[in-house]
Amino acid sequence: MYPDTNSSNNQTSSNSASSSRRDLRSFSHNELLELMDQLHQPKFRVQQIEEWIWSKGAVSFEDMSNLPKSLRESLNKRTVLQGPQQIARQLSQDGSRKYLLRYPDNTTVECVGMPSGAKLAVCASTQAGCAMGCSFCATGAAGLARSLTASEIYEQVIHVRNDFETRVSSVVLMGQGEPFMNYDNTLSVLRRLNSPDGLGIGARHLTVSTCGVIPMIKRFSNEPEQFTLAISLHSAVQKTRDVLMPGVRKYSLLHLYDVMGEYVDKTGRRPTYEYALIGGVNDSDSELGALRDFCCGTLAHVNLIQLNEVPGSRFHPSSPARAQQFVNKLGEVGVEATIRLSRGADIDAACGQLSQKLRQQ
Ligand code: SF4
Repeated sequence: MYPDTNSSNNQTSSNSASSSRRDLRSFSHNELLELMDQLHQPKFRVQQIEEWIWSKGAVSFEDMSNLPKSLRESLNKRTVLQGPQQIARQLSQDGSRKYLLRYPDNTTVECVGMPSGAKLAVCASTQAGCAMGCSFCATGAAGLARSLTASEIYEQVIHVRNDFETRVSSVVLMGQGEPFMNYDNTLSVLRRLNSPDGLGIGARHLTVSTCGVIPMIKRFSNEPEQFTLAISLHSAVQKTRDVLMPGVRKYSLLHLYDVMGEYVDKTGRRPTYEYALIGGVNDSDSELGALRDFCCGTLAHVNLIQLNEVPGSRFHPSSPARAQQFVNKLGEVGVEATIRLSRGADIDAACGQLSQKLRQQ
């Protein structure tokens, strides 16, 4: 681990006057058209600006080299291009990088870049903190600060891309927060990432992970895009799940099972069930049996996750041998399962750990 804390980020062009100016990324297409009109600029400038902010990930007006200098100066006077400030970065020996970013209102979030060969996956946060209170999660322990705007979520992906200086091949909204408690911004950022005017990432390579907020799963199943859905299941036994994930206690497993059946019927897409194996909590034979029953006969993929140890937590990962037994037993009833290797195990990779650590310093 090589912490790079308190490093200033050259991506930020904040100054004292910036608070009165609006972030250029928050302008809609029509608002940009209006702005160009006010500045007596031709309409095609909007396309150029959008390309810079959404596709090329410009972090300053100076980057926008095909805009006339006078326009760049006018934009700088009226707006800000205020990306988040990097306040910590950790590098893992497996190549993953974890970032703690701070927005202008001092809200902080975490995001992670995970390279694999020529590919780069980004894990982004949709909220600062989280209200769901999962008992094994450092973020859940700190509660919710606020939801992020679509631009703020997008900026995390751009930040990671710029740091790796490579194309992003997939994005998972699996960082801090419950994406479906910030539904509109989540959808908006997925569409922007998917759009050829954004990063042009295929919809199937864009994944939303939810604890199982049922009304929003229903809504998501009606969206036209082929985005991927992951459900954090962590137990198919109601009593255990209620303890692990109190934020979704009001949605029963039975209800979740029915809604996921409807989701599959409607979309034809295979959801993933995330299952962090916790020794002595959700890795018993009866838990395995319940998981088999929940998934058997349905279109599903189970991701068995090696729990990241959170210092001070009472939860510990199951043994690799037990994880393999889960894979085998699920396979016997035709349920596809894989063990997801924990990336960045040598850094504070579990969601919320890095910000928790810095808060304690
Ligand atoms: S695991 Fe996810 S949903 Fe649960 S508290 Fe942590 S951030 Fe929130």
